[in-house]
Amino acid sequence: MSNETQRVAIVTGAARGIGAGVARRLAADGMAVAVLDLDESACKPVVADIEAAGGRAVAIGADVSDEQSVTAAVERVAAELGAPTVLVNNAGIIRDNMLYKMTVDDWDAVMGVHLRGAFLCTKAVQKYMVEQNFGRIVNLSSTSALGNRGQANYAAAKAGIQGFTKTLAFELGKFGVTANAIAPGFIETEMTHATAERLGMSFEDFRQALIATIPVARSGKPEDIAHTVSFLVSEGAGFVSGQVIYVAGGPKN
Ligand code: NAP
Repeated sequence: MSNETQRVAIVTGAARGIGAGVARRLAADGMAVAVLDLDESACKPVVADIEAAGGRAVAIGADVSDEQSVTAAVERVAAELGAPTVLVNNAGIIRDNMLYKMTVDDWDAVMGVHLRGAFLCTKAVQKYMVEQNFGRIVNLSSTSALGNRGQANYAAAKAGIQGFTKTLAFELGKFGVTANAIAPGFIETEMTHATAERLGMSFEDFRQALIATIPVARSGKPEDIAHTVSFLVSEGAGFVSGQVIYVAGGPKN
């Protein structure tokens, strides 16, 4: 595939976890991938993996909650890889606590990365999608959008992501752009290791306790989410828009 016809994807929070899995998968699917995370050097191993497999990728350091940082990052992607027409808003943080102990800073930080971040990245990328009359947006929600003890901030942000996604589907559909959300259940990453730590459990005990509640009787891996992203951003998925797909080993909605 020539560089002119190759689709260009931006995956945020792609230095590790789900984002890294998604970046590797989209590169394997034939896309050029901007591996974006807070620390550019942390993105380099993912870029190296993609290049070693014969793909094209670039490491981009940016804070998705900062408008200038996002604008500069998206311009860099367009200059170095080409017009981005695939966006995966994956960057995320948790600042869990019971409501009565949750600080305003912890509320704002979570809203800043998940909601403001998805808004800023989508706003910056949508003009390239509209120009190309093609776009695929995938936003990471969570089963926590249905409510989860200790996650008032995160649950609100992840529910907000679903409303944001459906609105994008309405506004951008006529430009060939689809927008969908994936709501993962328990996926083994550093984020869920941090949750186990907060609950004072070993990761293995936490994992086993959750697996006991999951219909397919296993935990999720970044590759499970990457597979779903791969479908949603594919050329053939143009009639699927405004949906929330729970990837949780069972029905959660
Ligand atoms: P993770 O391992 O913690 O990775 C998240 C990545 O996002 C990190 O590399 C982090 O960078 C980056 N990031 C944080 N703030 C950022 C910012 N302001 N700008 C750019 N990058 C930023 O998390 P994960 O488990 O892979 O989760 C990925 C997404 O899936 C998140 O949106 C999460 O809420 C969602 N999700 C995860 C699960 C799960 O079970 N793991 C379930 C449901 C939904 P630093 O390391 O530098 O902080």
